[in-house]
Amino acid sequence: MSDKTLTAADVLLSPLEQEEMIGQLTAMAGALDDWYQKEGRQLPWRTESTPYHVWLSEIMLQQTRVEAVIPYYHRFLEAIPDIAALAKADDMQLAKLWEGLGYYSRVRNLKKGAQQVMEQFGGQLPDNIRDLRAICGIGEYTAGAIGSIAFGIREPAVDGNLLRVTSRLLAAEGDITRPQVKKAFHDILYTAMSFFPSSLYPGDFNQAMMDLGSGVCTPSQPACHSCPVREYCLACTRDQAELFPVKSAKKARRVEEKTILVIISDDHLMLRQREEKGLLAGLWEFPSLDGKLTVEQTAQQLDSMRIQPVRLVALSESRHLFTHIEWQMTGVLAICKKGCKFPDEWQPVTLAQLEESYPVPSALRVYRKAAVEWMSGGISGFFCE
Ligand code: SF4
Repeated sequence: MSDKTLTAADVLLSPLEQEEMIGQLTAMAGALDDWYQKEGRQLPWRTESTPYHVWLSEIMLQQTRVEAVIPYYHRFLEAIPDIAALAKADDMQLAKLWEGLGYYSRVRNLKKGAQQVMEQFGGQLPDNIRDLRAICGIGEYTAGAIGSIAFGIREPAVDGNLLRVTSRLLAAEGDITRPQVKKAFHDILYTAMSFFPSSLYPGDFNQAMMDLGSGVCTPSQPACHSCPVREYCLACTRDQAELFPVKSAKKARRVEEKTILVIISDDHLMLRQREEKGLLAGLWEFPSLDGKLTVEQTAQQLDSMRIQPVRLVALSESRHLFTHIEWQMTGVLAICKKGCKFPDEWQPVTLAQLEESYPVPSALRVYRKAAVEWMSGGISGFFCE
């Protein structure tokens, strides 16, 4: 079957089954809500669910675990308490507040979105899905989350958790990595939500599904025995929970090998800014060389740049996984004399500036830690010699 012709009927086998499954989701929603009211997670953005709080938390939670997000969320709100402050925040301050969370385009889009909200919506997030979707960085999932949680709109927030739980509840065969299947799931959930009693708050339904997916209906070994909706779950009834969801294999990541240069001269560390577009756009990084080089090979390449360090030390290897790319890295610490000339695009920064002002991606954390230890005179376990 081609992607073009795939419909909700293809995902759920037949119109009759679709109808039954909408009924099944509707019946299940009450039991799920009872469980959520008693067992739902107490999260900071749930105690104060203004549209801005929901928006910020949902953007931070993309690709990031709840436990990792919480301290960032508090720190960010302290510095940037509302949409007006976000719209005029300094880019470097935002990147620093986001440092370590990864996927930095999220915070750049958040600011652009805030500027749009100030210009087009009088400083208030709009209370309808169409306008929410028009805001920079707000896709279908985030619009569903903000709309349902902050404004009570009957709209599913279809993320990986919701897809997994729904595909198991319905024992649906469609490959959830295909946009057409995702759309079909969205439509089934959307229709089911329109049948929910008015006492069932749409935002609670979405958050209950998120909590179920994160704590009970987990990707592997779902806890069906303690699941509040097991009696409505087709995959569980058939003892096939682990067969769902259906997913096609991911493409292998492209591997990039690098030698990270931690170059220190006269109490300054050399950083350079990444391009304004693409991976880790605009962040600051250590200069690097292509390939995983030995200390001797690194010395030769530095020499060809007229840089002659007085000491070179090998650093540990590390790797970092991005969505489509894998960095395999080694590092070399190079101590250079005071007054040594470096390329113009390299920026000398002090330790205090590194800590307070320069956002460095977490992919480089091993080398950053080595630099900090060296510059603060500590003993490092990161050096290989
Ligand atoms: Fe998931 Fe099992 Fe609950 Fe079904 S019964 S929703 S498979 S945890």
